[in-house]
Amino acid sequence: MATLPDHANMESRDSLTGLADPAHARATMARWQEEWPRDSIACPIHAMLISLGRIDTVNVAFGESAGDGALVEVAQRIRHFASDELDSTAWVAARLTGGNFLLLARQQCSRERWQWLAEALADAIAMPIANPEGGARLRLWPRIALMRVTEGDGPDQVLDRLSEASARMRGGQGQRIDWSTGETASLGRTFRELEGDLLAAIDNDEIEILFQPQYTLADERMIGAEALARWHHPTVGRIGASTLFQIAERADHTAQLSRHIAKRALQQAAHWPSHLRLSLNVTPADLAADSFAMEFARMAERTGFSLSRITLEIIEQVLLSDLDRVGHVLDQLKLFDIRLALDDFGAGFCNFRYLKVLPIDCIKLDRSMIDGVLEDERDLAVFRAILAMARALDLAVVVEGVENEAQRRLVAAEGCEYYQGFVRSEPVSAQKFLEMAAS
Ligand code: C2E
Ligand code: CA
Ligand code: CA
Repeated sequence: MATLPDHANMESRDSLTGLADPAHARATMARWQEEWPRDSIACPIHAMLISLGRIDTVNVAFGESAGDGALVEVAQRIRHFASDELDSTAWVAARLTGGNFLLLARQQCSRERWQWLAEALADAIAMPIANPEGGARLRLWPRIALMRVTEGDGPDQVLDRLSEASARMRGGQGQRIDWSTGETASLGRTFRELEGDLLAAIDNDEIEILFQPQYTLADERMIGAEALARWHHPTVGRIGASTLFQIAERADHTAQLSRHIAKRALQQAAHWPSHLRLSLNVTPADLAADSFAMEFARMAERTGFSLSRITLEIIEQVLLSDLDRVGHVLDQLKLFDIRLALDDFGAGFCNFRYLKVLPIDCIKLDRSMIDGVLEDERDLAVFRAILAMARALDLAVVVEGVENEAQRRLVAAEGCEYYQGFVRSEPVSAQKFLEMAAS
């Protein structure tokens, strides 16, 4: 079972973004220093300072509420990224001031790994952000200062050294990632080289597909699973799905990667009992091709898995790009009897308009939606409003990221239909999933 991120029990949050506030970040650093492992040679604490240079300009150009919206979105991306890439280790994400964020991880990791995690996170943050007021989309280009914390470094020293490195970059020539020591990692594989490794990884079967079971809330029946990718790199080790897709996007190999994952997942799912469904994630790049529906259906038919047992999970980002064109592709998918889910609902701007105009069957509530529902009346009110909206539009609801019994009881009592989460099962290997499905 994964350890909960350190922010799970946090008392002091930043009121705008819900991340830890500076006091909490400092207290965590001080506590981790006190608990410094006696027998370790590797560095156990890593830090990164993420600075959004242009946030003042956004406030001026688009108004303060757009600026706040962008900060909330960036915070969400940092949180998602950390929980995808740093799972089963302790981490904390905080907003320090304005557009400055701190990510701390208590995890032994190489310099290269911390560096390319920063590169992948920078890419994720630099994705366009919808402007809730309408009009032009925003893009923010972060600078990230990195540091390995050494024994005895107090919170002040850590923050000072990171700020110095960040200021150095601001004055420099467009470098976006740097170490507090001034030297970038040169050992092992860099992010650039990983881009080059990706095609071979597909051929060499280094991409593993895990399956996370989904269940009904009313009677705990298994209804299927979501396919989730991992890269087992021969020298770097495990690379999580978010970073894998960032790398693919930079190398322009997203389409190959998606096709490979879908095909392998469908081949494995062909052995499942026939009442179980398979959910696959689709990227914006996949849906940008007009021929996507045709090609996907053809490929799926060859694996022998019925199209009517497939759900494709789409993120809001996809819909932002070109609603008409995407709408057309989605209509074609519906003709093949494929089900469509809107993923990560509640994490972005939750544009309800999409749900009205697109042939969506189901929404997957992002795990951030249920984070606070047990403690905070307002979080619960938002959660209920979204459920009411889903019912009004006749959409099924899957709740994601259910981590404990109390959450499961609550979402069941609120009348949600389905869930997936660590409380019942983490993503498991194809083999393990078959055993679980059979029992
Ligand atoms: P997602 O589609 O929202 O997938 C759910 C993520 O939540 C998975 O992370 C899963 O391991 C994690 N999760 C499930 N239950 C819990 C829980 O109870 N608590 C917490 N904290 N996390 C939980 P994972 O596998 O790291 O994937 C991260 C993201 O990467 C996915 O988010 C999806 O956007 C993307 N991704 C993963 N596999 C693929 C893929 O094959 N294709 C595409 N296009 N994207 C993928
Ligand atoms: Ca998903
Ligand atoms: Ca999701």
